[in-house]
Amino acid sequence: MERFEPGAFKGRKAGVLGLGRSGTACAKLLLSKGFSVFASDSRPAPELKAMLGRAPKRLDWEGGRHSRKLLQCAFVVKSPGLSPDLPILSRLRDARVPVYSELEVALAFCKARDIVAVTGTNGKTTTTTLTGEVFRQALPRGRRAAVCGNIGIPFSEAAPKLGAKDCLVAEVSSYQLEDSRHFRPRAAAILNITPDHLDHHGGMDRYLSAKARIFQEQSASDLCVFNAEDPLCLKMSRDCPAKKLYFGLTPQPFIHAWMSRGKIRIRLPGSRRELSLSPPALPGRHNLENAMASALLALGLDLELPKIQKAFTAFRGVEHRLEDLGLLGGLRCLNDSKATNVDSTMVALKSLESVGNRVFLILGGLHKGSSYKPLAPFIAKSAKAILTIGSAAAKIEEDLRGTKPLLPCSDLETAVETAFQVASPGDVLLLSPACASFDQFKNFEERGSRFKALVRARAKTHGVQKKK
Ligand code: ADP
Repeated sequence: MERFEPGAFKGRKAGVLGLGRSGTACAKLLLSKGFSVFASDSRPAPELKAMLGRAPKRLDWEGGRHSRKLLQCAFVVKSPGLSPDLPILSRLRDARVPVYSELEVALAFCKARDIVAVTGTNGKTTTTTLTGEVFRQALPRGRRAAVCGNIGIPFSEAAPKLGAKDCLVAEVSSYQLEDSRHFRPRAAAILNITPDHLDHHGGMDRYLSAKARIFQEQSASDLCVFNAEDPLCLKMSRDCPAKKLYFGLTPQPFIHAWMSRGKIRIRLPGSRRELSLSPPALPGRHNLENAMASALLALGLDLELPKIQKAFTAFRGVEHRLEDLGLLGGLRCLNDSKATNVDSTMVALKSLESVGNRVFLILGGLHKGSSYKPLAPFIAKSAKAILTIGSAAAKIEEDLRGTKPLLPCSDLETAVETAFQVASPGDVLLLSPACASFDQFKNFEERGSRFKALVRARAKTHGVQKKK
């Protein structure tokens, strides 16, 4: 399919499929560029109406169905996250209406030449945020950096505001990549690849080919960063046409960033100089990987080492991702509400192994279908007790019986209160629930914020007591 060229559709009607955040932002962008726009979403009209409150009046839309009106558009923009198997997409194909991704449409209005893109199964938001901070700090005066994508700021909102010398740092999910044919970032990173979202993509092969789209349009003058210790990532890198940069925790002959005595060491291709950076003060080995990827993106695009270091030193992590709230009423409290699956909770527990069996772990929420048993060895190494909440509690208790004491708490309020009653000074309270939040909260952000408010309030009234 041809690249999206706005000029080719001048004065014609644009369709937008899906009115989530990025769909709505794209509809507004197209309106502002002089297109008439028709948007269509399968959610009921009253729900959309409430959401579209502030959308321009000129926006023509429908809810609850996809009518023939969409087939009469000159082109359609598909929102990320909509299943590629939706019947409306085959109807559009049959009607020969070109369908573009929101990412590609937004980038057609982006003047910035330097696009930095981060993808992977885990660590995208952290790495994108860190990389954004690094570029803000290290780009020469007069050049701006904007962060956008899966991170919460749609491409359609951020990309058109940038000038030619600016830099767009983008978090791109496999959903956005699978619909993009002409995406060509100047620098890209693939952090890791483990099975996730396979229902959506219809299997591992399609998930992998979606991820590979990040480098498929690149050439030898671009660069792509890979995790050398992730077998799928390493294998995929063989097909990459760009300059390849690899990172890994342990040094190997072919890698460009590795860890040694707590420092990130870097040697770029063609250089004999070994550079050194102190990583940001974040818990866990996974965050060292995120920092190495970020360092390679920045150094690969010739940013200055001291400025990268300054951004690394100032970086405090991203809210709800193993966020260290400090010592509160004698308990060290960590908010990892973003851990909505078993793998993420495993990563959190691994990074707390050194505290040695002092972790009160809050688990539970909405069950997603996978077993909690893989957590058992990590619980054995780090946890003191497990506090269960939400509708997944019974399943968690069944899977983890016999590991550490289980304290059924039903909700977050009770879990925090119980932890403060039974813990000793210096213990750790970790919310890393391994479950979705939707049974008791709007989203993981609300769950994390509630946790923070609860521990802070509880610590104010009285802290944990020394046990006799
Ligand atoms: P994403 O945006 O890909 O969901 P985040 O940066 O929001 O990633 O991190 C989500 C969770 O994934 C973190 O709380 C942590 O448990 C885990 N994580 C972060 N970085 C990595 C990594 N490099 N490898 C494995 N797991 C990671």
